Parts: sequence; structure tokens; C-alpha cells
Amino acid sequence: MKGKKKRGPVIAIDGPSGVGKTTISRLVAGRLGLRYINTGSMYRALALAAKDEGVDLTSEKELEEFCRRARIGFDAEKGSTIINGKDYSDRIRSQSAGELASIVSTKKPVREFLVSFQRTLGEPGSVVMEGRDIGTAVFPDADMKFFLDAPLWVRAKRRHLEVAQKVKAASEDVTSELEKRDKRDIERANSPLKKADDAIYIDTGEMQAEEVANIVLAKIGERLKVGDIRS
Ligand code: C5P
Repeated sequence: MKGKKKRGPVIAIDGPSGVGKTTISRLVAGRLGLRYINTGSMYRALALAAKDEGVDLTSEKELEEFCRRARIGFDAEKGSTIINGKDYSDRIRSQSAGELASIVSTKKPVREFLVSFQRTLGEPGSVVMEGRDIGTAVFPDADMKFFLDAPLWVRAKRRHLEVAQKVKAASEDVTSELEKRDKRDIERANSPLKKADDAIYIDTGEMQAEEVANIVLAKIGERLKVGDIRS
């Protein structure tokens, strides 16, 4: 990727669940006029599509077969992942979709399938891509990498407020759900969640989204010239 500076940058934003990656990535992409791609929603959509087809989500073999046949597309306008002609956007945000995504994302055929699709989408550059393995596996030579982090209790509090706003009362045990997903994401054999050596680490625990986005934008401004971003 480096050396061929005819296109805008690839900016990787990784970190654990509930850290605010989506808010920050959207803000940064919007301010720089870059495309925004959320890879978590792809794992969520794929999990729902496979489940709808009766695939056993714990079976690597069945998921491999599903991925081999699946047609995947991305609606850039809406930011939706389309699987076998179906848009799953209205169902992907639920807690259960997150849980199912975290299960299928441990499986190698699923990761290979989605990583290759994500590379195709990001290859033209001018993109902010968020996930867990963007800086380590999808675009190891991304122009800039950020790893956002925050203590579990802060992430649980933010997530709790999010859920409470949606359903008025948060019945789920948000902390243990996040803890379970962290554990699965960190301990899986296939491209686990970890900070890339060359990623900029930001502890967002005591910051508002705007502050985090401003730090990310300042770091990008220090490293990349305006021409690199806009071209
Ligand atoms: O980011 P989000 O919470 O939507 O992701 C849902 C799940 O998808 C995560 O818990 C993680 O297991 C998986 N994921 C992943 N790699 C990515 C993005 C998401 O394994 N690049």
C-alpha cells in the first residue's frame, strides 16, 4: 500500500466491544471526507444469514459450506452488508446478533471469507475501517492504525446507557455480556483482538467521543499530508 500514493489513506480503528469505535470512526470519516466501513456489522449479518438458513453456528464445516455458496455485497450508501440478496441492517444491532457474531467470528472459514471481502472494499483507499483485526490482519500496512481501549466498567456503563435508551429498561447483564465477548475475541486462535505493534493506543475511558475523534484527527494530521488524504 505504501509507495503507491495515488489514493487516499486506509485508516484502521480497532478495539474491544463497547469502546465507541463506531461513533469515533464515523466522526473521523465524516470530517476527512473518507468512506466509513464497519466490519462488525458484516460478522453480525453473516451470523444472522447462516442462522436463518439453519446452519449450525458452532460447526466450522457447515459455516465453510455456507461461505462457499454465499454471495456478499456492500451497499455503500446505507453501509449495509447484503448476503444472498438480503439486507440484515434492521436486525444486526440486537444483543443476540452481537453474541452470534462473536461465535461465528472465531471460525476460520468465516474470517477468511469476510477478510477477503473487506480487503476488496478497502483496497481503493480513502477509507476508515473499524473492527478487531483491521490493523493486524485485514490491512497490516494501513496508513494509520488506532487501538481504542477503555476499562470494562466504563464500556459497560456506556453500553448500558445505549441499551437503556433503546428499550427504556436494560434487563441484560451488560457487563458480563461484554466480558464474555472480550474473552472470546481475545482468546480465539484466528486473528484475535490485539493492538498492532504500530497502532496508536488511546485510552478513551475518561473522554467524550468528540475529544477522542479530535485526538485521532490530530494524529492523522501530523502523519499524513492533506494531499494524501484527499487524493
Ligand atoms: O463491532 P461489533 O460489536 O459489531 O462486532 C461484533 C462481533 O464481531 C465482535 O464481538 C467480534 O467477535 C466480531 N468481529 C471480529 N472482527 C472484526 C469485527 C467484528 O471478529 N473485524
